[in-house]
Amino acid sequence: MKQQWRGGLVRRLLLLLGACLLVGVLSGQYAWTLVVGLAAYLGWTLWQLLRLQQWLQRKQVDEPPPDGHGLWGEVFDSIYHLQRRDQRARGRLQAVIDRVQESTAALRDAIIMLDSDGNLEWWNIAAEQLLGLKTPQDSGQAISNLVRHPRFKEYFAEENYSEPLELPSPINERMRLQIQITLYGNCEHLMLVRDVTRVHQLEQMRKDFVANVSHELRTPLTVITGYLETLADNVEGVNPRWLRPLQQMQQQAVRMQNLLNDLLLLAKLEATDYPSDSLPIQLEPLLTSIRNDAIALSANRQHQVSLEVEPGLSLRGSEAELRSAFSNLAFNAVKYSPDGSSVCIRAWQDAQGIHVAVQDSGIGIEARHIPRLTERFYRVDASRSSSTGGTGLGLAIVKHVLLRHRGKLAISSSLGHGSLFSCHFPAQAVQEPH
Ligand code: ADP
Repeated sequence: MKQQWRGGLVRRLLLLLGACLLVGVLSGQYAWTLVVGLAAYLGWTLWQLLRLQQWLQRKQVDEPPPDGHGLWGEVFDSIYHLQRRDQRARGRLQAVIDRVQESTAALRDAIIMLDSDGNLEWWNIAAEQLLGLKTPQDSGQAISNLVRHPRFKEYFAEENYSEPLELPSPINERMRLQIQITLYGNCEHLMLVRDVTRVHQLEQMRKDFVANVSHELRTPLTVITGYLETLADNVEGVNPRWLRPLQQMQQQAVRMQNLLNDLLLLAKLEATDYPSDSLPIQLEPLLTSIRNDAIALSANRQHQVSLEVEPGLSLRGSEAELRSAFSNLAFNAVKYSPDGSSVCIRAWQDAQGIHVAVQDSGIGIEARHIPRLTERFYRVDASRSSSTGGTGLGLAIVKHVLLRHRGKLAISSSLGHGSLFSCHFPAQAVQEPH
């Protein structure tokens, strides 16, 4: 093909030169005939160029190129084929994009693409229904301006997306959303949002059920313990055979009461995300009174409970909740360490925030149990904790209280060498002195 148009071109030029020479011989004006001949050829070439330009300008889909001879015909055809190929490739690409868009539009989960600064780039229809994003006004807006929940702002800023976040929807308080962010490419964010209202409602029903049952059991139990106490106070009128069962019934009634109290406290902690108060809490007096309670709990088991607190430390939150968390740790240290051993309660502050730690030199915990210790009713050894009167809810309460105060619990322990339970509170939870 290439050879063909090359041959045609050479032939045409030779023909033109030959014709010019012939006319030159006849007229005796070689130079002029050559100039006229070449000018005619140039004119023809410019005309072809003009046709090409006009065709490209008015080109509608599939309109064939103008007829051309030789090299120009070849140029027209090549451009036409290139354009057809490009069109087909674009068509295929568009079909893929359409399919992806159709399938993401059909998804009930929201997909949102954010740039590295957290500005909206693209989202599907579900994102409009779940988060109230508006197309196209919200394009380029910062996601934290559209989802204004403080928990989301913290979660987004922290850039630790290993766990999903659950929030009420910004457009409907009753809709519960689960948000999961993944980083990709150049620190861009892919945000997936699921409607978990139904699961949340079921979870809420379970919590309400436990709270209601605990509440309802309280009154009959108070009556039973009341009568048991009256009987215990009048032992002289009781058949001696019944003394031991009576004692055991009293012990178990106290255990049940502790259990109900812990269940109700947990239900209360789970009902909201934040502490019931946001007051400055001095740690020194709080931990001193917890230390005294721990000594009282130890009684004649003679534990050495020491306290090392930097003076003036203060956290923001609820005193009752923090007291409950720290005393659970201190009481566990006493309960699970041998008579006369030492327990140390420490509190200090550094650049990361405030830390409260309870260390004992007791029986310790095997490493495989540590990740599960904060689960409700998880016990390392059932017989061990029933003998200490534990409810199995203590560490679950600690975990919840810390979560509400933005803190974290760290546990390190080795069997037979004691345990260290540390509560780390970030700088935001610290109350600065005025
Ligand atoms: P419990 O009311 O049974 O003490 P917790 O939730 O407070 O429940 O603790 C869960 C389990 O963790 C306990 O059953 C106990 O086996 C173990 N544990 C907690 N604290 C300590 C500790 N300081 N030393 C050894 N084991 C501990």
